[in-house]
Amino acid sequence: MSPGNEDKAMFPTKRLRRLRRTPALRALMNETQVTLDDLIYPIFVEEELDAPAPIESMPGVFRIPESGLTAEVQRIADLGIRAILLFGVSRHKDATGSDSMKDEGLVGRMVRTAKDAAPDILVIADVCFCEFTDHGHCGVIHDGDVDNDATLDNLIEQTLVAARAGVDIIAPSGMMDGTIATLRDALDGEGFTNTPIMAYSTKFASAFYGPFREAAGTTLKGDRKTYQMQPGNRREGLLESIEDEAEGADILMVKPGMPYLDILADIRRETLLPLCVYQVSGEYSMIKFAGQAGALDEDAVMLESLTAFKRAGADLIITYFAPKFAELSQKA
Ligand SMILES: [Zn+2]
Repeated sequence: MSPGNEDKAMFPTKRLRRLRRTPALRALMNETQVTLDDLIYPIFVEEELDAPAPIESMPGVFRIPESGLTAEVQRIADLGIRAILLFGVSRHKDATGSDSMKDEGLVGRMVRTAKDAAPDILVIADVCFCEFTDHGHCGVIHDGDVDNDATLDNLIEQTLVAARAGVDIIAPSGMMDGTIATLRDALDGEGFTNTPIMAYSTKFASAFYGPFREAAGTTLKGDRKTYQMQPGNRREGLLESIEDEAEGADILMVKPGMPYLDILADIRRETLLPLCVYQVSGEYSMIKFAGQAGALDEDAVMLESLTAFKRAGADLIITYFAPKFAELSQKA
């Protein structure tokens, strides 16, 4: 561009507000649209529970009794939500999380029930051990730390339980090294070549998970800092996702969401794979409680937060707001 043209492009000739004048202009110029098709709804399923149990730290979210899972999945499907992510709340915990490795355990039962309830809904299984171990860590403990490779052996078992139960997508969340290559190999070896793996590829040891602990009934003492990432590490965040792509992940993920949009944008520039973001329990609760206190407009802030994820590069969004978004979409 010649210097003359550059001069002409400047104020008062150039006025960016021209394209913001009316709702129709703004709609035409809109760069980022969130739709219900982008959203994944997490469901907490508790065995031996009689009625839905409200999660006090997450207003509007309940632990669903296993006996009520069929009705809940049908309700979610009727809202137009296309995908759910299942978390088991176990009453049969032990040192290894053995219940999750049995075909008749909670993981297998949840997946079968959800698929039967609404065959068209995508059922994603979060595969990890923290909801099934009595110590609350994401794997087997040796010498006071989670043993990476021993955990992978068990993760194969849990993954195959979910696969045999008919799961649509496997989502390993434990941040063990070598998870994706190990699970891809195991799935392919058993004929599940069409089962995609959504990697929790870049997952931080975040204080924003606080309300989830109540929701999932985890009994963790201490922290997960030897396997989840430290919040200040941007380059390492990229490295983790690049590594999972190389191991064969089908979908990558950043977790949490709002405090890590820079990481999301970094990974978007480095991969052609679909990218998911997890708007975690603490992000949800902050918006809910601020809305209840009258400090924020909950619906507007929810929409803005989801839009920000897509703008930063997410294709899929895991969010506890999915039913709320669906209801607002139906009204609109
Ligand atoms: Zn875990």
